[in-house]
Amino acid sequence: APAPPPARHLFSDPAEVEALRGNLLAWYDRCKRDLPWRTLAVTEPDADRRGYAVWVSEIMLQQTQVATVIDYYNRWMQKWPTLQALAQASLEEVNELWAGLGYYSRGKRLQEAARKVVSELAGRMPRTAEDLQKLLPGVGRYTAGAIASISYGQATGVVDGNVIRVLCRLRCIGADSSSPAVIDRLWDMANVLVDRSRPGDFNQALMELGATVCVPKAPLCGECPVKQHCQAWRRKLFGNPPKVPDIEDCGVGDCPLCPPATEPWDSSLGVTNFPRKAAKKPPRAMRTATCVLERRGCHGAPEYLIVQRPSSGLLAGLWEFPSLPLAQDLQEEREREELADHLQVWMGQPVAAKGLQFIGEVIHIFSHIHQTYVVYSLPLDGDVTLDPALSPSRWVTEDEFHASAVSTAMKKVLKAHEKQRRQESSPVKGSKRKRGAKAGGAGST
Ligand code: SF4
Repeated sequence: APAPPPARHLFSDPAEVEALRGNLLAWYDRCKRDLPWRTLAVTEPDADRRGYAVWVSEIMLQQTQVATVIDYYNRWMQKWPTLQALAQASLEEVNELWAGLGYYSRGKRLQEAARKVVSELAGRMPRTAEDLQKLLPGVGRYTAGAIASISYGQATGVVDGNVIRVLCRLRCIGADSSSPAVIDRLWDMANVLVDRSRPGDFNQALMELGATVCVPKAPLCGECPVKQHCQAWRRKLFGNPPKVPDIEDCGVGDCPLCPPATEPWDSSLGVTNFPRKAAKKPPRAMRTATCVLERRGCHGAPEYLIVQRPSSGLLAGLWEFPSLPLAQDLQEEREREELADHLQVWMGQPVAAKGLQFIGEVIHIFSHIHQTYVVYSLPLDGDVTLDPALSPSRWVTEDEFHASAVSTAMKKVLKAHEKQRRQESSPVKGSKRKRGAKAGGAGST
């Protein structure tokens, strides 16, 4: 078995653990943010509804800011207040409500899991972290621990990005914080620390501390309720540990939790020396041609053709303007021809590549993809008969477009198209777009 890590990386003093819990919980009681899922976790008497309410919040909060989630959460809980209600919803409705929140498979998986609880578990939420993780698709170790501790009072720790940062600083853990060895140690530590009588509050307090005080770039150590337990803070105040380590310190050079010898403590960084991560792989670059096909609707208002994406993969089941992934470095002429061929399939009639009007490029950063949409438009005079044998497609007004399950990236494409139309209709500013022009701001989901 591997040797236990040196004492400075652990919480081995029960008195210190007790003091840290008390300080953190007292701070949480004073300073916690008022959030709708926290209210439900405390006021909802029905255990299954309570677990469901926490579950929805935890899934929405993955990779997404609290401020963004609140409105989505309230609308979701109003529409589907119970597992049974969600189980009866269609995927289309779920995607529509989720539109703009990003990482779309989360909503789909949540609904699939709700259906499973209703059909296979008689509507009863599993009550422990172990069962939640085992029985619910899409529920990993973190989400299971959060639901079990917050909804059902199970004394089990949680480790998310905020907790990783706080724990690495509290115990000067500078080895790669995304490595399985370090993550395992952090889970052990979270399980040691979690308060036995208020586990849900303790876990939320630790995450709240990471979100509001022990933030990534400029932590507010002076206001921190646990600074007296923080090794990184102590090190910032008192400088490097002595060259010859005492019994509390790590062995020289071979500690699995210390920063590598090649990356020593940088005093200009202070506590932000921790945590450290191995460099991320840069996102993959992709180019996609997309075309805003436009016709006049019955009242003269523009209508746009949207088509549904496949039910698996990136943005599964969402609607988009007809789009086509492009090879990198494709010449413009070839790009237009390929897009025209693609459109011909949807429209059932020949499309002249020259008729496609270039609008600009819209960049959208997904977590692992740097996506450039090369946007064209094509106004249509006559009607187009859509082939029902192809993927689902429909004509929508602008309002219907925004109410549909479309990604943020597609909303940016439409915005770029409208901007171009406005410029064209303005006598002063009317202009043609040049290739390479950025038609919409970069954004991420
Ligand atoms: Fe984070 Fe500073 Fe508090 Fe340490 S003292 S836990 S670094 S905010």
